[in-house]
Amino acid sequence: MTAATVTQMKCACPSCLCIVNVSDAISKEGKYYCSDACAKGHSEGAGCSHAGCGCHA
Ligand SMILES: [Zn+2]
Ligand SMILES: [Zn+2]
Repeated sequence: MTAATVTQMKCACPSCLCIVNVSDAISKEGKYYCSDACAKGHSEGAGCSHAGCGCHA
């Protein structure tokens, strides 16, 4: 039996457009982020550094 598991989802950072694989995402408090910067809420002013994404606030 194969469960239809969701393996990809959008980064939990609201301003981030990145899609992350759950298996290699950075998980924090039940949410998945594409990068450390997103997981920290861009507290250091850094973006996720993914091309075309302007999520750094
Ligand atoms: Zn991003
Ligand atoms: Zn992100």
